[in-house]
Amino acid sequence: MFCYQCEQTAGGTGCTKVGVCGKDQDIQSLQDTLIFGLKGIAAYAYHARRLGQSDQQVDAFMDEALFTTLTNVDFDLQRYLELVLKAGEMNLRAMEMLDNAHTAKFGNPTPAKVQRGTRAAPGIVVTGHDLLDLYQLLKQTKGKGINIYTHGEMLPAHGYPKIRSFNHLVGNYGTAWQNQKKEFDQFTGAILATTNCVMLPEDSYKDRMFTCGIAGLPNVKHITNKNFTEVIDKALSQPPLPDNPQGTFTTGFHYTAVLALADKIIQAVKTGKIRHFFFIGGCDGAKPGRNYYTEFAEKVPNDCVILTAACGKYRLNDRDYGDIDGIPRLLDTGQCNDCYGAIKIALALADAFNCSVNDLPLSLVVSWYEQKAVAILLTLLHLGIKNIKLGPSLPAFLSPNVLNLLVEKFNISPIGNVDKDLAELLR
Ligand code: SF4
Repeated sequence: MFCYQCEQTAGGTGCTKVGVCGKDQDIQSLQDTLIFGLKGIAAYAYHARRLGQSDQQVDAFMDEALFTTLTNVDFDLQRYLELVLKAGEMNLRAMEMLDNAHTAKFGNPTPAKVQRGTRAAPGIVVTGHDLLDLYQLLKQTKGKGINIYTHGEMLPAHGYPKIRSFNHLVGNYGTAWQNQKKEFDQFTGAILATTNCVMLPEDSYKDRMFTCGIAGLPNVKHITNKNFTEVIDKALSQPPLPDNPQGTFTTGFHYTAVLALADKIIQAVKTGKIRHFFFIGGCDGAKPGRNYYTEFAEKVPNDCVILTAACGKYRLNDRDYGDIDGIPRLLDTGQCNDCYGAIKIALALADAFNCSVNDLPLSLVVSWYEQKAVAILLTLLHLGIKNIKLGPSLPAFLSPNVLNLLVEKFNISPIGNVDKDLAELLR
């Protein structure tokens, strides 16, 4: 944990003052939480701004919140806590703005079955979250005999009508970001990274890799002007990819598509055909313990529906969960950039049943890794959502007191044993 007073690592060599050097551990903890949350909000606001949308309230909050992290600006724990929850509120606005920007430009996503693997032709795989970059690449590669594939966080792009109207967007290659090194090594075409989460590349594919927009990697060509000619030339210079189909993924359960099924869903809940909803998702990562989410999804009883989003979906989306009266049991609402949709679904269900989200038969089993996950967690807390199970471990930047506070106020708890957690949540 970085101490903003001493400007060194709190508790590190030379620090003798943890907890007494002006900003105590709890203020530092809340400051760290706020800064991580702001980074997440900035990611959403950046994408929305690229699509022509901004929000003065979000912008003003970014200024205010960053200002409060200056030395000696704020020593009031309660006020800082309010600020952290306000970050959650602003993140909700930012996510809404991004959702509006995406749907205004590319249409409302609808469920899509996405082919996995590769087809025999030159190819480019695109990772990251920037749908505009993908769209421009699709326009520039049209009619050139190149197939385009999504990777990792780009999978939800297939749900957007204006993006999937390109026939040469043929499918998804690979899984979540932490598998990039192995998967990009085996993908013999060109690779384009539009945003995080992107890993330092291996030498074996560095010369086939490109970045654009906010992404950047050492010794990797960065495309600055949205002219993807070099990426296209690289793809055409490589041997064709093998014909290697590997089944399908389903995505595109935008909240508008799920709410179109609202009557059916409500009826199924009322007649007891749907017992419980689980949101299982969030970030993915290489840290051990994340197979908890795979096991959890496998053990969810057949009369329950699973909502998922973000890279964590790759822990559970390669099996067929079937349906309940035509309602798919697995609803992939998109990426970390689309968590707004999962929140909209929860709020709409609460509205339909005339209760709060906490009173719904809904449990959140969340995996976290990166700053957007922190921002989303703050949004859930801002909305007063309780009983979240969080893993694979609790954030180290939460001081014991701050953690206690979150446990007392929101009953957040770490993931533990799958069977016990599942039984507890179903109770
Ligand atoms: S879900 Fe998390 S791990 Fe995946 S791309 Fe988004 S921020 Fe990164």
